[in-house]
Amino acid sequence: MSTYDAIVVGGGPAGVSSAYTLAKLGRSVLLLDKKSHDRIGDKSCGDALDRSSPEILFKEFGLEPPHGDEVSDELKYMTVATPEGHVKMSAPGYTVDRHVYGQRLLKECEKAGVEVIGSAPVRDVIIEDGFVKGVKYVHKGETIEVRSTVVIDCSGTFAAVRKRLPEGFSEGLNREVPDYHIAASYREIVELKEKDHPYKNEIVLLYKESIPPPGYIWFFTKGPKRLNLGTGWLKSETHLYDKPMKQIYREALDEHYTRDEYEILKTGGGQIPVRPPFDCLTFNGGMVVGDAGCMVDPTTAEGHGPALVTGYFAGKVASESIDRNDVSREGLWEYNVKVMELYGVRNSMSYVALRYLRKLSPDGLQFIIKRGIITENELKDIYDGEENAISFWSMLGKVIKCFPKYGLLWTLKRMVDDVKEIGTYYEQYPSDPSDLKKWREGRDALLKEEL
Ligand SMILES: Cc1cc2nc3c(=O)[nH]c(=O)nc-3n(C[C@H](O)[C@H](O)[C@H](O)COP(=O)(O)OP(=O)(O)OC[C@H]3O[C@@H](n4cnc5c(N)ncnc54)[C@H](O)[C@@H]3O)c2cc1C
Repeated sequence: MSTYDAIVVGGGPAGVSSAYTLAKLGRSVLLLDKKSHDRIGDKSCGDALDRSSPEILFKEFGLEPPHGDEVSDELKYMTVATPEGHVKMSAPGYTVDRHVYGQRLLKECEKAGVEVIGSAPVRDVIIEDGFVKGVKYVHKGETIEVRSTVVIDCSGTFAAVRKRLPEGFSEGLNREVPDYHIAASYREIVELKEKDHPYKNEIVLLYKESIPPPGYIWFFTKGPKRLNLGTGWLKSETHLYDKPMKQIYREALDEHYTRDEYEILKTGGGQIPVRPPFDCLTFNGGMVVGDAGCMVDPTTAEGHGPALVTGYFAGKVASESIDRNDVSREGLWEYNVKVMELYGVRNSMSYVALRYLRKLSPDGLQFIIKRGIITENELKDIYDGEENAISFWSMLGKVIKCFPKYGLLWTLKRMVDDVKEIGTYYEQYPSDPSDLKKWREGRDALLKEEL
């Protein structure tokens, strides 16, 4: 039976980033994916990727960020719009061809020494003496056991390893994600037949009354005449609407492009976790990375960049822990701290903002944008949880503009305060594992929800 330093389950952005980092640090790595080798990396996605995430791997190892035919369009802006107005924020990045970019990253892994086996779904984990010691996967009709010092779960929302861990195996790492923390989504890539679209260098979240909460349809540039379009909402709420998601999407899109104005090049959909990262992402013998650990920004559904970055963190920490001969949950703890410093803080704030956005409704948002109650910088500061996102003097101006809907202003003010408070709380994520229980109790009390 083969033995590796690390087995990485899944070859999406989290998997290639973890595997590449480990291989570059001199570790023997096996990457398993259920997709055939030539399909790895392909994924139904909005395709937007921020500029800074791939740069982490570039700075440390010289791994080139997306370029050439991997890039559909360069991004400069993210716009939050309603039918009557919009707020435009700076958002440097790309829309990428996930398949082409993903395949290049996979090849870079192989060049760095990672062994890749496609068409190899992982079906079970090997647990001995309280530690995960390997996995069982199926390949060409045979079940194969393979062992390693660490197992890294990068298998996306369906979490092939995490879901097979015994209940209570690692406090704070939930096995299941309930439907109210999963967004179901539908997306299309279309080509316009006649005129070009007006979204060059831009991704737009358009809030409309006809779309269930959080209420937007996205228009993401894919270069001249091409768009990535889609919508989504909580899986737990799909039964509340009398039409299927695809129909609601099509009717909303009809108001912008009629069906004879575009050709559909690709359709797809998927599930997106919308909650802050799990409170613990390590277990005896391994860790969870990317969507498997719920790293997606709950408001914007950005998970590609976080998967790349957390893969890098996981690879670094796993390699150091192997050196120290301690791959226990606690021995790998540094990974939790690094993730929480970044995505714990950011995504918990986004999670709280999303709860308010759902309350605000597209109508409320429209009122706020139309009256200019919130400026671009303020909106960005609210999303980023900046101190004094809305100053006293600008608040006074808003009071006047908000006439007669003062309730909205109150909601906005509470949103800013609560977003800031949760961000500050996540900044105090414990560096000592024995403090986790207390930290979790405090966080649940703040959110009035058990995560
Ligand atoms: C419709 C939609 C739109 C999105 N839009 C955006 C966007 O615009 N920008 C953005 O940043 N993010 C977006 N996201 C989120 C983004 O796609 C994910 O966050 C990102 O792909 C997560 O990477 P990952 O490597 O963790 O998981 P994935 O990319 O899902 O990769 C998981 C890999 O694991 C493999 N796997 C699964 N099960 C097994 C198994 N049992 N054994 C072996 N292998 C297995 C899969 O084949 C896959 O290759 C969107 C998601 C959806 C669904």
